[in-house]
Formats: sequence, structure tokens, C-alpha cells
Amino acid sequence: MRIACPHCGPRGVDEFSYLGDATVTRPTDPADLDGFAAYVHERRNPAGRHRELWQHALGCQSWLVVTRDTRTHAIEAVEAARDVALARAGGES
Ligand SMILES: [Zn+2]
Repeated sequence: MRIACPHCGPRGVDEFSYLGDATVTRPTDPADLDGFAAYVHERRNPAGRHRELWQHALGCQSWLVVTRDTRTHAIEAVEAARDVALARAGGES
């Protein structure tokens, strides 16, 4: 599998570290204990399209959101995690 880092170009997967599910979001209410338990412990294991966090550990160190089919390993999109977080927050900087 090759991942096209937005900064470095296509590289072998051995240069990247898998960091987890990119679809989970931290609860905004600190009193939401069930929400925090789910945020920390509960993960889906989808067969198909999935958004994952990867880091280009042996390259530019960037955190990336990779949209990948877990059955075929076909990569649909690679985005800088910073850009995804800013878009999710509704802001730019
Ligand atoms: Zn890179």
C-alpha cells in the first residue's frame, strides 16, 4: 500500500504509523462520562470505507486523515489532519 502524503508525495506504507480512527470526536461537555467512555474505548471495525489517522513518521511527521477501503486497501483521499480539524471547527487560520 502506498499513501500519497500531501507534502512529500506517494510513499510506501512502511514510512507511516497508524494512529487510529479519525471519525471519533471528543465530547464537549466534561460531565458527559458516558460520552468520554465511548470516546476512549469504543471503536467501529468497518468492512469498507473508513477514515483513519496516520502519521508520516519517517517523513515530514505530518498527521494525515486517510480515507481507505479496509477490504481492498484502496485509498480514496489523503488530507492534512490540521485542515480536517479546522474545517470541522468551522474556521481557518
Ligand atoms: Zn510527508
